[in-house]
Amino acid sequence: MPMDADFREVRENYIRFVLTDAAPQVANSIRRTLLADVPKMAVHNVEFHLGPIMGEDGTEYESVTPLFDEMIAHRLGLIPLPTYLDEFNFRSECTCKGEGCPSCTVMYSLNKKGPCTVYSGDMEPLGSDKFRVKDEFIPIVKLGQNQAVLVYATAELGSGRQHAKFQAVQAPGYRYYPSLKFNYDKLDVSKFDVNCCPERILEKRDSKIVVTDVEKCTLCKACADAAPKGAVEVKGDDTRFVMQFETDGSLTAAQALSKSLELLEKKSVELLALVSSL
Ligand SMILES: [Zn+2]
Repeated sequence: MPMDADFREVRENYIRFVLTDAAPQVANSIRRTLLADVPKMAVHNVEFHLGPIMGEDGTEYESVTPLFDEMIAHRLGLIPLPTYLDEFNFRSECTCKGEGCPSCTVMYSLNKKGPCTVYSGDMEPLGSDKFRVKDEFIPIVKLGQNQAVLVYATAELGSGRQHAKFQAVQAPGYRYYPSLKFNYDKLDVSKFDVNCCPERILEKRDSKIVVTDVEKCTLCKACADAAPKGAVEVKGDDTRFVMQFETDGSLTAAQALSKSLELLEKKSVELLALVSSL
């Protein structure tokens, strides 16, 4: 049987689907590729302007903030940046030989004068507006009177293997597809408390137990524990998996999933080439 996927919920930054006729190893390879290999853009280099900064009205500001420069650089690194995977090379593999060019880097400037709170939305992309940060209200630093910050930040592609800031996907996971069986020879339905299920997916109907949404079952077996031994059987199917993950917004969930499959395919093809040369 060929592997199949049934999409249950697809939102911009979230996806949940059922993978059928697969093995746990396949589900886990997808999970690991999503975490460690799907690349995204993140700020990797930050230059701080030092010395006084002149305001438009002639006021002099000090390039000082309440946070160490390292902390600001770290925070800039963690801001999700819109990523266009088809348009960018890894900097180290780029034709510019890592010098940094429009095919491998995106520059941002951050120029704010206090008193104010500096937010992620204050990062101005140098170039196309499509690189503008989507989550505008991630606080970076609070500036006091006469404090200012002037920063040039360079973003590049990386993967979670390198640093967690390059991880586009959060909390990818899969569960064995649940199945519940009720043995009515052993189960006295009138005495069975359906609220023993923490997910509240059990109901009594015509002196039978009905599972309202089996995919919500977490295989916790609370129902089996609440019933006499052998009356309720809870099993996970190791050929079907409910998979889900969300992204930080730099890529859509669908983009991240298709990139992970593309990377897995590429690895398999490379391995196959090595094996066939034996
Ligand atoms: Zn380049």
